[in-house]
Amino acid sequence: MTTFIHQQLRFVITEIDKAIENHQQWYQNLLRVLVSRVPPDEKDLQDEAHKLCEFGQWFYTPQAELVQDHPTFVSLGQAHEKMHKSAKELIDLVLAEQAIPASLFDAFNDCLEKMRIQFQALRHEFAELAQNLDPLTGAQTRAGMQAELNKQHSLAKRSQQPSALAMLDLDHFKQINDNYGHSMGDVVLTQTVECLQHVLRPYDQLYRYGGEEFLICMPNTTLEQAEQVAERMRVMVAAQKIIYDKTGNLLRVTASIGVTSLDPERSVEDSINLVDKAMYEAKAAGRNLVKVR
Ligand code: GH3
Ligand code: MG
Ligand code: MG
Repeated sequence: MTTFIHQQLRFVITEIDKAIENHQQWYQNLLRVLVSRVPPDEKDLQDEAHKLCEFGQWFYTPQAELVQDHPTFVSLGQAHEKMHKSAKELIDLVLAEQAIPASLFDAFNDCLEKMRIQFQALRHEFAELAQNLDPLTGAQTRAGMQAELNKQHSLAKRSQQPSALAMLDLDHFKQINDNYGHSMGDVVLTQTVECLQHVLRPYDQLYRYGGEEFLICMPNTTLEQAEQVAERMRVMVAAQKIIYDKTGNLLRVTASIGVTSLDPERSVEDSINLVDKAMYEAKAAGRNLVKVR
């Protein structure tokens, strides 16, 4: 099964691989310019050189929107820009027939190495992400969940950066299976996750916690903001248009959502229990609701 998010991840990994290879070739050409004085590529002489290389062209267009504000991508973007600016300085000196000071060449190599490390880090991160995805829905499995929650918990403790959790459970899902069949139930799960991914930000984590139950970790989010995100998720899930037969009849599904903060003053486990409790309160209060604890 290839879900939307699997496709996106595979696409990004392919782009990273291409970028690593292209910059390898680009570096060979740069050395020829610096050492053998062959004419440089016009693109490398521009102030915006980082936007003109093949990776830059992809990175700075809406195509990469999905990943552009991902923290590792932001760091990579900065390292990539710095490297191209540093290369331009070297080329400018060559064109002015001046010697390149060793310190400047070292600084360039340093930028290049930093960019390569960022590329590898990003590739690793995305490959790992792809590996830990639930094959049906494309949500993350619980494999990396505990480690990620612990990370956000200690970050909240150290830097006062608030994080929030949401627990989302589909309402009367057993009836959906009973009325429309198990494979239609699978479609509902997959489509719902795709819908949730559109509400969430790239660095929010969506885990398939149980069969039709999802845990969402929202870094750098206050309880108030998390409630708003949960409300948006609730509305989006209920508004989904899921077609269940050839005549285009629509099936409706709703979700009950609990929200709490990943409070550094209590354990991660206690926060999970609390968010679960909030979700059950939403069920008890009539379903298709958000409850905050
Ligand atoms: P509630 O509103 O109280 O949550 O009711 P519910 O019917 O959603 O809850 P219940 O826990 O009774 O049923 C959950 C159902 O989800 C039962 C199970 O068969 C179904 N389910 C779990 N995983 C999958 C899956 O991968 N595919 C399908 N189609 N169904 C699944
Ligand atoms: Mg349910
Ligand atoms: Mg359930």
